[in-house]
Amino acid sequence: MTDEPHFDVVVVGAGPAGNAAAYTAAKAGLKVLQLERGEYPGSKNVQGAILYAHALEEMIPDFREDAPLERHIVEQRTWMLDERSHVGMHYRSDDFNEERPNRYTILRAPFDKWFSSRVREAGATLLCETTVTELVFGSKGQVIGVRTDRAGGMIPCAMVILAEGVNGLVGRRSGLREELKADHVALAVKEMHFLPAETIETRFNIKGDEGVVIEAMGSVTDGMTGTAFLYTNKESISVGIGCIVSDFAKRQTAPYDLLERFKSHPSIAPLIAGAEVKEYAAHLIPEGGYNAIPQLVGEGWIIAGDAGQFVNAVHREGSNLAMTTGRMAAETVIKLHRRREAFTAANLADYTTRLKASFVMKDMKKYRGIPDFLHKSPQIFDAYPKLFSDAMKTWLRVDGGDKVSKENAIVSSFRKERKVAGLLGDALNLVRAWR
Ligand code: FAD
Repeated sequence: MTDEPHFDVVVVGAGPAGNAAAYTAAKAGLKVLQLERGEYPGSKNVQGAILYAHALEEMIPDFREDAPLERHIVEQRTWMLDERSHVGMHYRSDDFNEERPNRYTILRAPFDKWFSSRVREAGATLLCETTVTELVFGSKGQVIGVRTDRAGGMIPCAMVILAEGVNGLVGRRSGLREELKADHVALAVKEMHFLPAETIETRFNIKGDEGVVIEAMGSVTDGMTGTAFLYTNKESISVGIGCIVSDFAKRQTAPYDLLERFKSHPSIAPLIAGAEVKEYAAHLIPEGGYNAIPQLVGEGWIIAGDAGQFVNAVHREGSNLAMTTGRMAAETVIKLHRRREAFTAANLADYTTRLKASFVMKDMKKYRGIPDFLHKSPQIFDAYPKLFSDAMKTWLRVDGGDKVSKENAIVSSFRKERKVAGLLGDALNLVRAWR
């Protein structure tokens, strides 16, 4: 290649962030080169996965016509588990059987492939099996190209959108960001359990394309900060669990052991009984929150998606933040390109302004205290699930005991375990972190 840029922007990665960025830029007429290290988009990607429609709809309003969607979610179960029970909240509504449902389960490999086909239709050039190794900078510190693991030297460009996912290797190698911290990432493992559609529909009391998702926490993570999930697809069930990496290191627990524990829990085992397990995968999730967000723009570069730590762990949202940040990164590039303005850090700061005005930064900021609160409060994952479960057992058993004595027993079990000061402290810290 010559040193003259053939492309207006290079996008690193073909996950939700990279695809959103490449689609938006190509649709606006920019010459886009997208580089993906996997054999095809989606081949390296792991996700639960719930797709939040709004972020995709902003770019591709007609996506429902041909996107590979599994089930639209009509019921959410949020469970606190102890060893043998779950206490939970279920929300199910027929209103979720709407014309344009808001949440779907998806499988990432076919979904990413589909999204990528739309990106290429919009005019972007995609090169797979190409790993970007580093950014190349000019004498004034501005991006002048990217280096890849392919022969042929540097690919010249003046603007790069880094949507390379949680590892952020290119950013790190290029000196744009620090090493990942073990308490800022969760390691998640996931399996796919295959069952006939009718079996899934009977077990979860659903019909047609309706789906159920379960988010769980408690004894299954062995006191570590983490959560588990179970999502219904058309003919499979995704089951997974993830915990903060520094907790795994401290406890010396293997992620797979936790997954086995979750699968054999009496509330989970009957839901996946008899299934054929076909896929097993592990992936990191950025869960450091707002305080872990790195510098997002520089001279000729922007970071989007997981690479920027954009995951709202409280609400289990990641792909929608990835798509929104990818789209907004591209919108900033489009604006500067049209005005023939340089891709300087000062001009690219428009991206952070857009993010701050959107739900992305507002939500990240709102929950900025949560990661620290959870690290310092292991009782949330062990003591409280057990206390709530025991309380429900006491409350529901009709055994000749009077209700006042039952209430007193429940209150004293909480006081014994956490003391009054501990209970008040936990409540106060949670409220502070939540605000
Ligand atoms: P990725 O999806 O990781 O994509 C990055 C892409 O860049 C990959 O294709 C990778 O191969 C490529 N790449 C990396 N480095 C290079 C390089 N040097 N050169 C070229 N290409 C490169 N989010 C939700 O919204 N809902 C869920 O239900 C949900 N569940 C999850 C469950 C699990 C187990 C996990 C691990 C995550 C889950 N998430 C969920 C989070 C969600 O998957 C991520 O937030 C989202 O995938 C981030 O998109 P991204 O494009 O930033 O990164």
